[in-house]
Amino acid sequence: MGAQLFVVATPIGHLDDISYRAIDVLKSVKIIAAEDTRTSAQLLKHFNISTPLTACHEHNESNKIDQLIERLLNGEDMALISDAGTPLISDPGFKLVRAAQEKNIRVIPVPGACAAIAALSAVGLPSDRFSFEGFLPSKSSQRIIGLEKLKDETQTMIFYEAPHRILDSVKDMTHVFGADRPVGFAREITKTFETIKKMTLGELVDFIENDHNQQKGEIVLVVGGSIQEKDMEQEKLDQLLTRLLQDLSVKAASQLAADLTGIKKKIAYQRALELTQQD
Ligand code: SAM
Repeated sequence: MGAQLFVVATPIGHLDDISYRAIDVLKSVKIIAAEDTRTSAQLLKHFNISTPLTACHEHNESNKIDQLIERLLNGEDMALISDAGTPLISDPGFKLVRAAQEKNIRVIPVPGACAAIAALSAVGLPSDRFSFEGFLPSKSSQRIIGLEKLKDETQTMIFYEAPHRILDSVKDMTHVFGADRPVGFAREITKTFETIKKMTLGELVDFIENDHNQQKGEIVLVVGGSIQEKDMEQEKLDQLLTRLLQDLSVKAASQLAADLTGIKKKIAYQRALELTQQD
């Protein structure tokens, strides 16, 4: 068996969020490639891990890869970590993983915290389909161009944003997506000042503007997808049927809904049945 490259997730705030397996792997490998060795040294110290660190960040990743691959080919197991969360997710590591794969080195994920997934799991927006958009461009003109491309996206969208740009970005989103679009604001996840809220983009502008503390720390924005006309009609039919079913049988409710909306009776009946079964 050749050496293995472990891609290890570390906490995004609360240190208890590291996994037992992550600690075991970090202790057992020969070397840990880290985004910032000073930041990671603190984490390793906390868990009494004495494995040596070597820097692998976005500025040296390309040059460093040959050295790291050589060590792996020489049989040294290695772990890759970033400052926080899952490596490669808006963090360095992609080039190393790709190079390792090309040399048939086994790449093993050690899953754990990821701010995007943590935010999605708690903000209360549809999570069945979503897109991860990472960081938007820092210049407003470029940001608006990027947002325009996402205007009709129907999936939930997850963005990372820096605190000093949060207000401008949310204002740009309001401009492009509209003030009524739902948004989840997840700030300082797992930390002391954790704030998780769902509101509209218009409300979020006010919330951030009126409380400057909301422009501090680390932030994930989860934006609801665009509701297409078809979905809206479905939503309206559901609302109508739900109300009618409180007083009427499935048959009577679907007949009345069909008369009122012009929708086919068979479709209204099928949906009414589904709604009663959901309850
Ligand atoms: N690899 C990391 C992950 O798995 O989430 C993301 C690294 S990226 C350089 C840093 C961004 O992630 C921050 O600017 C913020 O948008 C988000 N983030 C990281 N930790 C967070 C936290 N505790 N609360 C909210 N957002 C966080």
